[in-house]
Amino acid sequence: MKHLATTPISMLIFTALILAHGNEQHVIGVVSAVTQGSITVETLKKEKLVVKLDPETKFQKGSEAATVNDVKARERVAIHAVKDGDQLKAHTVRIGTASAAPGNDAKNH
Ligand SMILES: [Zn+2]
Repeated sequence: MKHLATTPISMLIFTALILAHGNEQHVIGVVSAVTQGSITVETLKKEKLVVKLDPETKFQKGSEAATVNDVKARERVAIHAVKDGDQLKAHTVRIGTASAAPGNDAKNH
């Protein structure tokens, strides 16, 4: 039996990419484009994923509330999204890396 504490860091990063709870998908990577309606994220696997934003989407930078205007190209983000058909819709966008660690994730739900 393999315990989380002994899992190599590289495995943790990979797990973060595919980690999902319920209908959720976490999109972690670097912003390649942002508009008022969507964020395009280049994931650690160099895939580009478009995540839709809506008026319900929350933005966080560190522990502060933020807005879509705080999301900048080349910034690291961790987006909590729900699948909506073949689209992804963000419910929470975290800007910056500190809170992107999988271990901190549960606090947000
Ligand atoms: Zn989540």
